[in-house]
Amino acid sequence: MKTLIVGGGGFIGAHLLEEILRNHRNWQVTVIDINSEKISHLLLDKNVKFFEIDIVRNSIEDHVSDCDVMLPLAAIASPAVYVTDPLRVFELDFEANLKIIKWAVKYQKRVIFPSTSEVYGMCADEEFLEDESNCVTGPVSKQRWIYSCSKQMLDRVIYAHGLKNNLDYTLFRPFNWIGPKLDDISNPESGSSRVVTQFLSNIIHGKDIKLVDGGNQIRSFTDIADAIAALIKIILNENNCATRQIFNIGNPHNQTSIKNLAQEIVELAKKYDQLKSLAEKTKIIEIDPNEYYGKGYQDVSCRIPSIKKAETVLQWTPTVSLRESLRKIMDDLFKKNASSR
Ligand code: NAD
Ligand code: UDP
Repeated sequence: MKTLIVGGGGFIGAHLLEEILRNHRNWQVTVIDINSEKISHLLLDKNVKFFEIDIVRNSIEDHVSDCDVMLPLAAIASPAVYVTDPLRVFELDFEANLKIIKWAVKYQKRVIFPSTSEVYGMCADEEFLEDESNCVTGPVSKQRWIYSCSKQMLDRVIYAHGLKNNLDYTLFRPFNWIGPKLDDISNPESGSSRVVTQFLSNIIHGKDIKLVDGGNQIRSFTDIADAIAALIKIILNENNCATRQIFNIGNPHNQTSIKNLAQEIVELAKKYDQLKSLAEKTKIIEIDPNEYYGKGYQDVSCRIPSIKKAETVLQWTPTVSLRESLRKIMDDLFKKNASSR
């Protein structure tokens, strides 16, 4: 199978590529990205071709026409950037990806598209359901929602091409996937990365952990190994079970408040020699959302997936607890064996 991973040098792409090269040796993978740092150790494999291409400025039509299945993963997925640079988010997450979807329609290629849990926005449902829950966003002045709207619009375009042009697609909605290589741990600046990396980076650099709005927001964290197992099932698409379907890929058992997450990360850090004294000094403080992100921010207070559909249709169930997942991230950073903890 010829697999095209656009943005394959990022967090999800790097883990997916590792898994494909480990267990699916008959797949040929083409990776397109502007950065190959996270996958540099994989690029000598004969089954991988890497192309450094900026998809905002260049066509990748030839690559799309040449694949069997495509995962367009390139996007800006950091809430701070939705507020500070919404047009860059729109240009990449919507405009550049729309072009790719149109080529997939033109050449009748299967597309596995990363929607997002953010499309549900401030939906009041206790658990979000793929085919029933509302997508609820805030006012235009709250620029945070440009990411959610860009992804939602692409979901709708892809869905329409499925109905009208028989496009073979699957939309998957990640719920806070976490793991090694998530974001750049070396940058402790507020808002520079997603929350788990941010908190760890704060500890490592001797900075306070800042809880936006008190940290009562609930998120469901999903270990990347569980997430990649779901993605592989979607790519394999046994009996076309994933064709023209939307799946939440999350772990409702790993739901926690951001405040609890901060405490858990600090306690875990104390068990690592390199971090013990820094973690003991780390303060967890509260901060106003406008001060942290700027006025264009609005938070999602509770985000929990229903995964019944993925469990039933894909025969997939996540197994890694939040604590274990955090341990794996720390062990990767400090190259230690988890068994002693
Ligand atoms: P990531 O930021 O780690 O990876 C994105 C990759 O896209 C990066 O390697 C980046 O270099 C590349 N890229 C950026 N601009 C590019 C350009 N102009 N041309 C080519 N490549 C470019 O993100 P990720 O966590 O791997 O997420 C992948 C997809 O999944 C994204 O579409 C994201 O919106 C979606 N998603 C992820 C999560 C999550 O929990 N990680 C949650 C919801 C949705
Ligand atoms: N958050 C926080 N402090 C930080 C970074 C994030 O309190 O230093 C909060 C943020 O406001 C959000 C949650 O943590 O409620 C998750 O943030 P993330 O950036 O991972 O993305 P989200 O889940 O909102 O897409």
